[in-house]
Amino acid sequence: MSIADNITLAKNALGPGVSLVAVSKYQPLGPITEAYDAGQRLFGENHAQELQVKAPALPPDIEWHFIGHLQSNKIAHVVPHAQYIDSVDTEKLLYKIDDAAQRAGKTINVLMQVRVADELSKTGFTPLALLRFFAQRGYDRLKATRIRGIMGMATNTPNKERVDQDMRRIRAIYDEIRHIAPDLHGFDIVSMGMSQDYPEALAAGTTMVRLGTAIFGPRPQK
Ligand SMILES: *Cc1c(COP(=O)(O)O)cnc(C)c1O
Repeated sequence: MSIADNITLAKNALGPGVSLVAVSKYQPLGPITEAYDAGQRLFGENHAQELQVKAPALPPDIEWHFIGHLQSNKIAHVVPHAQYIDSVDTEKLLYKIDDAAQRAGKTINVLMQVRVADELSKTGFTPLALLRFFAQRGYDRLKATRIRGIMGMATNTPNKERVDQDMRRIRAIYDEIRHIAPDLHGFDIVSMGMSQDYPEALAAGTTMVRLGTAIFGPRPQK
């Protein structure tokens, strides 16, 4: 199946209310261009250096999502190229992104990453810390950053019940934030679901999925 076929299949499965970020990490320009030519416009990268090389080499109407753990010293490399940072995992990072966006003279969209999975390796706010951030209106001091929603990952397990539970938990946290911060305009994204688990994410009410291998096939190794 071609990349274009994969995109058509995915879009049909998602329906009109769910957006698709094609995760192009480690993919060379050829396959990304193929996806672009098939109409795909949202792409995800998780390394600053890769984004820095790819973004200027590809059409300017691509919406780039940075989806990896972002180190402070890489913020200035990412902000000029990304429209979204989907993986804000500390308040400190959020405010540094805001400073960098101001310096770059642009407004950046972000998603706050919440951690519900068991694995120690997964980064993100605990649900409690994230709810506290919104209850305390930590977003009021942002000048060049729009918090557009949250991002989460389910436990990496073949146990579909567990995955389903994690997805529902992420969705519930999103609903709770909308409840405690009703004045937060444009807060309308819950990004969850990858190639392995997007059916569970759909059932739980995702609005944005991040698909890599389901679109491009297996990733080239780095
Ligand atoms: C790599 C990656 C994806 C895509 O993973 P696939 O299993 O290839 O769909 C999604 N989200 C994040 C944060 C990633 O790093």
